Amino acid sequence: MYINEEFKTPVLGEYDLIVVGGGPAGIGTAITAGRKGLKTLLIERYGFLGGTWTAALVNPFFDTETKTGLVKELVDDLKATNSFGAFWNISFSFEAMKKLLDEKVKAAGVDLLFHTTFSSPIMEGDTIKGVVVQNKGGRAAYLSKYVVDCTGDGDVAYSAGAEYVFGNGTNGNPQSMTTMFLLSGVKLRQEKPNELYDLMKKAVDENDTGYNIEFDKPYAIWLPMEDIAVVQLVHIREKNGTDPVSLTEAELEGRKKAYETFEFFKKYIPEFKDAQLIMTAPQIGVRETRHIIGDYVLTKENLLSGATFEDNLGFDVTFNVDIHDDSDKQNCFHVKNYQIPLRSLIVKGKNGLLTAGRCISGDFYAHASFRVTGNCVAMGEGLATAIAMAIEQNTDIRNIYKL
Ligand SMILES: Cc1cc2nc3c(=O)[nH]c(=O)nc-3n(C[C@H](O)[C@H](O)[C@H](O)COP(=O)(O)OP(=O)(O)OC[C@H]3O[C@@H](n4cnc5c(N)ncnc54)[C@H](O)[C@@H]3O)c2cc1C
Repeated sequence: MYINEEFKTPVLGEYDLIVVGGGPAGIGTAITAGRKGLKTLLIERYGFLGGTWTAALVNPFFDTETKTGLVKELVDDLKATNSFGAFWNISFSFEAMKKLLDEKVKAAGVDLLFHTTFSSPIMEGDTIKGVVVQNKGGRAAYLSKYVVDCTGDGDVAYSAGAEYVFGNGTNGNPQSMTTMFLLSGVKLRQEKPNELYDLMKKAVDENDTGYNIEFDKPYAIWLPMEDIAVVQLVHIREKNGTDPVSLTEAELEGRKKAYETFEFFKKYIPEFKDAQLIMTAPQIGVRETRHIIGDYVLTKENLLSGATFEDNLGFDVTFNVDIHDDSDKQNCFHVKNYQIPLRSLIVKGKNGLLTAGRCISGDFYAHASFRVTGNCVAMGEGLATAIAMAIEQNTDIRNIYKL
């Protein structure tokens, strides 16, 4: 059954660029665009920036080591306030990241709208002309020359009718989700990042615990703070991050498993005797949903051969393939350093509509590598640079590199 709705929506602004989603890709895009003088609007559904970093309590900051530009700037600024280091020398304080992103987005002259959810694209044929959003003020329209979909799930591109592949592209299953949880009073040795697995194994071998605890890549990730760690362990499988019912079930199941895991830690692992559960993440970490098809689809073969592209975004991906999925035996493997072409961020068949972050055009395996946050920030930076060139040259972004 359907109902018909009629809206008369006020147009509240006009921009060069609208960025939807303020996660690593969104802040990379918006900060760079603002600095390049583009009139930029950043729309974010939560009341803070950082996306999966700060909403799902994800740490550490992967694939930063060879990056220059904004990634290096963020790392250097976090180091300057002793908010970066600890676990594998790349973990960061969540609050320091939030504060830094607030400051950088404002300093770049970006207009920021928190607590605002993307509602629908404004299309003229295959060309996007802006977006309609929903917030406490009701519905509002904003017009722009370009829209970058940094929602992680490709919400804008999907609503605009873009082609996409969901999850692994075979049975449709995405990588599993994870509820991260934050603990204080944890007595593990920082120099032994894999220690949690050994302690859990020992606890199960030596006790009849009665807990059904999973062992899929368990990490207590130290933050650059005294005895504070965020735990990655709980995995929720075969749920759909774009289906509200499935996502609700995943949140409930994830929190339940996090509480059980914490209880198990306290009872059976002496190093957690004094631990306290500070919080579960405000939202479950969704690793994978839609892969929006672009002018080019990055593939596993590109990663294995270390592909380079004339229209590359100005950085190398150095992170390997990392799949959180029991059913895939080949869940971690090495790849050569490779590049991402601008074409993978241009939505196929659409004009003015781009993606950055985990929803760009790549297959299941490529996504399992480029999705980490150093790459998402750098993608946004490279993309905003290309958009600024296109606007300056008064041409379409597809003409920037004549490929
Ligand atoms: C459990 C887990 C562990 C991970 N571990 C690591 C790790 O250790 N290191 C690492 O570097 N990477 C890690 N990753 C991967 C990484 O966090 C993500 O791939 C990355 O954050 C994707 O960035 P993004 O900007 O594309 O999307 P996101 O980080 O998801 O940001 C999307 C933003 O868009 C907003 N948004 C979404 N929809 C809308 C809408 N309709 N309207 C308005 N706003 C919207 C969201 O609120 C969010 O702020 C992990 C991911 C998960 C889930």
